[in-house]
Amino acid sequence: MAKKGRVFSGARPTGRQHLGNYLGAIQNYVALQDDYDCVYCIVDVHALTTVETTQDLRKNTFEMALDWLAAGIRPEESILFIQSHVPEVMELHTYLSMVTALGKLTDLPTFKEKVAQQPENVNYGLLGYPVLMTADIVLYKTDVVPVGVDQAPHVEFAREIVRSFNYRYNTKVLIEPQVKHTEILKVLGIDGKAKMSKSLNNHIELAATPQETSARVMEMVTDPARMKRTDPGNPEVCNVFSMHKIFSPAEEVNMIDAECRRAGIGCVDCKKRFAANLNQHLEPFRAKRAELASQPDHVADVLNNGAERARVIAQETIKEVREAMQLP
Ligand code: ATP
Ligand code: MG
Repeated sequence: MAKKGRVFSGARPTGRQHLGNYLGAIQNYVALQDDYDCVYCIVDVHALTTVETTQDLRKNTFEMALDWLAAGIRPEESILFIQSHVPEVMELHTYLSMVTALGKLTDLPTFKEKVAQQPENVNYGLLGYPVLMTADIVLYKTDVVPVGVDQAPHVEFAREIVRSFNYRYNTKVLIEPQVKHTEILKVLGIDGKAKMSKSLNNHIELAATPQETSARVMEMVTDPARMKRTDPGNPEVCNVFSMHKIFSPAEEVNMIDAECRRAGIGCVDCKKRFAANLNQHLEPFRAKRAELASQPDHVADVLNNGAERARVIAQETIKEVREAMQLP
């Protein structure tokens, strides 16, 4: 069946992925493969804007690739690669920077946030981040970028750069990417308050052992108003219940919903059930991940092969871009 076009998405190599990454990004990546030609990129160059040491970069990239592959990214079909393996992106970034207004970059809320977060490391790359992101997207002739609502302004920014470039050089070589809004659910951390995030250490790693996972689940905060086992609970405000809705069978969800409200089931029991269902759900993932982890050369081959295929598209785009710019 003919696919609907090309999807591109990238993520910084943050190492072992957690439930938030899985439900908010990876599952969507996997599903999109059915309808689109997908290009998935581990953006190691982007990571350099925020990390001050690269000593974990290779390990984190490898761990993330394992998680993506084990979760169902199909490398025979989709292109999975590491950003820096296709250096053409850096060249395109430079060309695009010439049609990008500096004031627009300094005005971006994301830039201001980063400046506030790391005042001691306000580097030039941080400012150019959206331009490099645009280069990632357009280098691979992307039609569609899947993003949650909060990231949509970045793609809008990319579209503006593309329009400026095409206008300046009187060309149509660069494709304006479309936003594909995805219903990205925001997964809360075990604290039940903040977004699950590795840097907040409120996360549950996909690759953890069943024992580690259960221990982490037992730490999860439930309905804060339920103080005693005999108090009735409110599943609507319980993060564990929201996870049950994703990972547990419908009858069990209904049972917990009803029993929690009349104090028929306690939080400890409820969490034990969730841990068991989560572990069961992740069993095939973990088996596949362990197998891949034992074959690092194979994983390297997969990533190298992805880079080769990405590079064919990239070189074609760069050729057209140079031509359009009338570079001597
Ligand atoms: P950091 O702690 O550095 O922010 P992270 O673990 O939160 O790292 P990100 O790099 O922020 O990971 O996100 C990677 C991808 O996973 C993005 O597509 C993001 O939208 C998604 N994601 C991350 N955390 C969550 C979450 N809690 N709920 C839903 N999606 C998430
Ligand atoms: Mg995050």
